Amino acid sequence: MSFNTLGLRPELLRAVADEGYTEPTPVQVQAIPVILKGGDVMAGAQTGTGKTAGFALPILERLMQQPVPEGRRPVRVLVLTPTRELAVQVSESMRVYGKHLPLRSTVVYGGVNINPQTDELRRGVDVIVATPGRLLDHAEQKHVDLSKVQVLVLDEADRMLDMGFIPDVRRIIRLLPKQRQNLLFSATLSTEIRMLAHDFLRQPVMIQVAPQ
Ligand code: AMP
Repeated sequence: MSFNTLGLRPELLRAVADEGYTEPTPVQVQAIPVILKGGDVMAGAQTGTGKTAGFALPILERLMQQPVPEGRRPVRVLVLTPTRELAVQVSESMRVYGKHLPLRSTVVYGGVNINPQTDELRRGVDVIVATPGRLLDHAEQKHVDLSKVQVLVLDEADRMLDMGFIPDVRRIIRLLPKQRQNLLFSATLSTEIRMLAHDFLRQPVMIQVAPQ
């Protein structure tokens, strides 16, 4: 299996090659085509499986298939993560895979000064990677408008559940359009996670891969 047959544009293939990836991992083989078609996904995949590229690459491809938005960029992709560390990692991956594309992304998390994040948000970004609490602060203070979000990713959903973030996630989801693509990634697919998926996803394609 090669990256070339997955339907990703040359700029993304170049970024992948720059990273030294020669072939897609199992979660990438399964998730990329579904996400490119606009479908919802529920994936049982741990960190280390290549899940981040599994959602970042097709999301970036889909953003590029749309006309460049006029004026200030609306937030079109929202990735929620349980921790600041994961938010930073995912945001760095978005930057690396999108480095040959004219897209903007930013990361917001709590425990640091809010003002630099506010400035970034006000400039307009295509992709936000965020922890739930700080994103809600920004939304409540009208630093960010989430009403144009097309894709929601819940990364490490099981940890979000364990850390008590689901009420915040539900509050954020109420700020999003009803019509959107939803992607849920979780190390485990417990009954609780499946119930959450039932609330948040529409007819998801189920993907489960073994740890790498
Ligand atoms: P993740 O599971 O997204 O945290 O990714 C784990 C690690 O795998 C990261 O360091 C990625 O850079 C790397 N990776 C992702 N996709 C591939 C691939 N297709 N080939 C080799 N390494 C990869």
